[in-house]
Amino acid sequence: NEAILEVRGLKKFYDIEQGWFKDNIQVKAVDDISFHVNKGETFGIVGESGCGKSTTGRTILRLDEPTEGQILFEGSDINLLSYEKMRRLRRKMQMVFQDPYASLNPKKTIKQILTEPLRVHQLYSKKERIEKAIEILEIVGLSSYHLERYPHEFSGGQRQRIGIAKAVILNPELIVADEPVSALDVSVQSQVINLLLQLQDKFNLTYIFISHDLGVVRHITDRVAVMYLGKIVELAETEQLFTEPMHPYTKALISAVPINHPDEKKERIVLSGDVPSPANPPNGCTFHPRCASCMDICKREKPPVISFDDGHTVACHLYTN
Ligand code: SF4
Ligand code: MG
Repeated sequence: NEAILEVRGLKKFYDIEQGWFKDNIQVKAVDDISFHVNKGETFGIVGESGCGKSTTGRTILRLDEPTEGQILFEGSDINLLSYEKMRRLRRKMQMVFQDPYASLNPKKTIKQILTEPLRVHQLYSKKERIEKAIEILEIVGLSSYHLERYPHEFSGGQRQRIGIAKAVILNPELIVADEPVSALDVSVQSQVINLLLQLQDKFNLTYIFISHDLGVVRHITDRVAVMYLGKIVELAETEQLFTEPMHPYTKALISAVPINHPDEKKERIVLSGDVPSPANPPNGCTFHPRCASCMDICKREKPPVISFDDGHTVACHLYTN
């Protein structure tokens, strides 16, 4: 398995003003995470909202600058690349957003939206760019007579197909899809998921699939990282994560997914309390106020990341020694 992406010690901190006195508070949106993504796989990132999933995705594509850490794409550290090299690399790394309506310029026709990335990267002649747009539109299941129409004339599902076409038209290697079906009707979700799977086959794509929907994640990912308050608390091959979760947070998340295998038994673990504010995370293991297995050490010391031979990693004191 060849890694297309390697993330080492990634941190993304923000300063925000908070409270009556507008104190500057540091939010550790992503706090020292490391993982790799293999070429051709679908790597899932799951967790509740505010856990740092989207920030991780954006930082990997350098839409946000990391505070610290390395992002190696095909072996080169993208933070060290010149503007020009980064511009060329950007073609290989694309993003599909949750809300296609927000990511498609409402004043532009579909033809303009789809040909623009090609124009920006100085690819093809004008005529060829339009041919490409027609080709990709058909690949995502829309016909060419839509070319002169505007985003508002489409349904949510159609708009996400256009968002996907816009990402794929540059023939990228890696696509970060951030909650790509969460805004769509359930009936449309599986169509868009199937389209993503077809495109992965056709174009040899690697996906990072960010989602809070564990049912979808189990269906389409090969490996999954579970994030909680800016950290990866567990990472494993998908089936292993779902059948033998180790971290108490993962166990709770999975227990809330409806059972889809008849021989599967599980008890719903209800988490007490909400996710604490990332501006003021608990000491020690940041999950400890919500953890039924919390021990004394958990309140004082951050758990180390424990790695097993099969690539399963977990950050929890239950598994030390
Ligand atoms: Fe729970 Fe302690 Fe493990 Fe944190 S380290 S998840 S508090 S058992
Ligand atoms: Mg998000």
